[in-house]
Amino acid sequence: MISSGIRCTTLLILHAIFWRVYNINMKLVERLSADYPSFRFVSSATPHWNQAEHTIYYNADSATTLHELGHALLGHQSYGQDIELIQMERAAWNKALCLAPKYGVRISTEDVEAALDSYRDWLYKRSLCPTCGQCGVQSHVDYCYTCPNCHSRWRASSGKNKRLRRNIIAAQ
Ligand SMILES: [Zn+2]
Ligand SMILES: [Zn+2]
Repeated sequence: MISSGIRCTTLLILHAIFWRVYNINMKLVERLSADYPSFRFVSSATPHWNQAEHTIYYNADSATTLHELGHALLGHQSYGQDIELIQMERAAWNKALCLAPKYGVRISTEDVEAALDSYRDWLYKRSLCPTCGQCGVQSHVDYCYTCPNCHSRWRASSGKNKRLRRNIIAAQ
């Protein structure tokens, strides 16, 4: 009985923390909607900026919400080479860091580096040769990768939140 009591208390605390965080972010989104009426704000499990829809998809995290607003304000669209993606991510975080004091949001440089690291890991996995595991080189023309070791060519799927696929392209 004691353990279930503790579990129940833990759940209640977690629930309270979640709603507190969620409410803080709802207030932020209300302010942002008023300050940036040209963007739409839509709640989503996978936060991102959609240029075509002029929509910021946000989750319960205030720092991430400001980051997505950063992409929106910088007019980020799609990216070409993977290296451009890291540059866009960093630029959006810099924008979020500038906006953070105005909206009372705390973003640490550790948070930013952790977010960028997760992108670097994903890009590293995209660059690994599906045939021999060597690190490939990405073309700036068609964005395909070529392996310097076994000369395989592949295209890596986009969408960081989806399962990564690397499809081999037949030699021309
Ligand atoms: Zn981003
Ligand atoms: Zn290879």
